[in-house]
Amino acid sequence: MRFRAELDPLAPYKPPLTSQEAAAERGADGYVKLTSNELSFGPLPEAEAAIAEALPHANRYPDRRATALREAVAAANPGTDPAKNVLVGNGSSEVLLNLLQLVERPGEIVFPWPSFGLYVTISVTLGLSPRKVPLTDSHEIKPEALLSAITEETRAVILSNPNNPTGTYLTLKGVCALANALPEGVFLILDEAYQEFVSDPTYHGSHELALQRVNVVCVRTFSKAHGLAGFRVGYGIASEQVADYVERVRFPFSVNLAAQVAAAASMRTSEKIKARAQFIIRERVRVQEAFAAAGLNYVPSQGNFVLVETGPEVFEKAGVLVREGEALGFSGWSRVTIGDSGENRRVIGALS
Ligand code: PMP
Repeated sequence: MRFRAELDPLAPYKPPLTSQEAAAERGADGYVKLTSNELSFGPLPEAEAAIAEALPHANRYPDRRATALREAVAAANPGTDPAKNVLVGNGSSEVLLNLLQLVERPGEIVFPWPSFGLYVTISVTLGLSPRKVPLTDSHEIKPEALLSAITEETRAVILSNPNNPTGTYLTLKGVCALANALPEGVFLILDEAYQEFVSDPTYHGSHELALQRVNVVCVRTFSKAHGLAGFRVGYGIASEQVADYVERVRFPFSVNLAAQVAAAASMRTSEKIKARAQFIIRERVRVQEAFAAAGLNYVPSQGNFVLVETGPEVFEKAGVLVREGEALGFSGWSRVTIGDSGENRRVIGALS
């Protein structure tokens, strides 16, 4: 068999230990898992109740349009038409895939780097060329550098905002300026997987930009602040034209029944989600202060994780599993997810 040569450099996603593997190695109480930017709390009771109610109906295909989920997303983002402006997917990963499936080939996809590795995988898989634009020395996103990387071949710019793994972010003003400077034929994909954890009060309402401009899309997820990573569900907000084309390429029923009802219920309970995000923001301050007190270099973060300049073994010896920086483009660093109070106490304890 011969396969497309551009697939050769791709490697399967190598996740950090799963909870089951970690438990087998260390015993269920022997570790805390802060590797994957998940939420340490389970789904909200409202989401659990919705799943219990849906369970007896699992013999049927779910609503192909995910109508209730789209309605909940639209209600939480004023000005959004549930039937015209909402994208849904099997995780925000699928929404990103569907968006890049729309662009012409050959072509280039521009994004800051280091950033989320899936951008490379999706681009290459679709026969598009990734174009990595380095972050600044202080790990910030530099819009001018992104703009100077744009050529006739550029089809999309993807911005992880806040950026995984650095936690740095571009202000909404900066995002709007970037959108204004981009040619209309180039997509601006705002990957806002961590937007709930941004403490800057001026960063809100980015979805309005997506509703105003045909080429701007916000992509978000239920895997982080909503605590539903196991169900695989994400969403996006886009112009009617983009949403129409995304629905043409999306697999029918890609968002399963449990995911649809859990995500819709969680979205309707947005005050509780906000309170959880506020907790993570407060804990992030505590963890960052501890890094500073220990004399460690870290990148001030707007996500539910902090990148710190020390090896993972420092945490592992205290039973705290973190993501080793090497796989993320930061050799000698670790990315530490902010967990619950007890988990964060263990992180801080590992420093002494
Ligand atoms: N975007 C970013 C920046 C991420 O870090 C992640 C998950 N690590 C995702 C998208 C994908 O999340 P999901 O597919 O679970 O929605």
